[in-house]
Amino acid sequence: MKIITTIKEIREALKKERKKSKTIGFIPTMGCLHEGHLALMRRARKDCDVVVVSIFVNPTQFGPSEDFEAYPRDLKKDAEMAEEVGVDYIFAPAIKEMYPRECLTYVNIGKITEVLCGAHRPSHFRGVATVVSKLFNIVQPNFAYFGEKDYQQLMVIKRMAEDLNLDIRIVGILTVREEDGLAMSSRNKYLNPKERKAALVLSKSLKLAERMVKNGEKNLKTVKEAMTKLIEKEPLVDLEYLAICDSISLKDLLEIKGKVLVALAAKVGKTRLIDNIILEGD
Ligand code: AMP
Repeated sequence: MKIITTIKEIREALKKERKKSKTIGFIPTMGCLHEGHLALMRRARKDCDVVVVSIFVNPTQFGPSEDFEAYPRDLKKDAEMAEEVGVDYIFAPAIKEMYPRECLTYVNIGKITEVLCGAHRPSHFRGVATVVSKLFNIVQPNFAYFGEKDYQQLMVIKRMAEDLNLDIRIVGILTVREEDGLAMSSRNKYLNPKERKAALVLSKSLKLAERMVKNGEKNLKTVKEAMTKLIEKEPLVDLEYLAICDSISLKDLLEIKGKVLVALAAKVGKTRLIDNIILEGD
């Protein structure tokens, strides 16, 4: 496995691979890798000849009062984990390499970025779409892998690829969870033991929604109320939003019907966590 830090070098290396007609699978990450990231890499390893992982904590997707500085970074450990699952290249550029001067060109995606997390993190998806576009242009992958854990991000990238005619297959991968149900996230590192325990209520509330819908509940308000009630029992958890919406357009629904996204964000102590589940209402 090669660790490359410059755009020039990764371009040259991948040009050689493309000349040999190798297919390229790409996984953009912010590092601090865990089993969730590894699931994306293992799938890419199965699908593609060459697997490229980027590790870049992208400043343009963090708001001014968010955790850009504090975000956990550990390239050495990340490299060991990536190598173990058969990654061929890590692209780990410095900020100056990706943004040598003020960025004046941004990729803005309408509507689906204005709801859920986008409503609470105003320029977040603009930063994500811009950096992913830059990385796509650098790596030029055939396949790119994104986790359903960040479901809205996956839909935003899929829509961007469609709208801009990108010749890249965007593949979504199921959320990997800890044994007790907590969705894996690099930000789980911030949680102290009490918060870690309290955070469980998030996946529990999604399971509750799943059970209710399975038992035939179609009333969206009833499901939301039951989930909110459960979450509010945890004093360390402060719900930011809870939404039940169409799984493709992310638009609000009147009742639970068809493929439905149940998504939430909450502060656990100072840590902002997100989670979601896709349900099938009849
Ligand atoms: P991040 O490093 O948080 O930007 O995540 C990089 C990629 O890994 C994104 O596509 C995430 O959706 C995905 N990812 C993060 N956590 C998980 C998880 N628990 N299960 C599946 N994919 C994940």
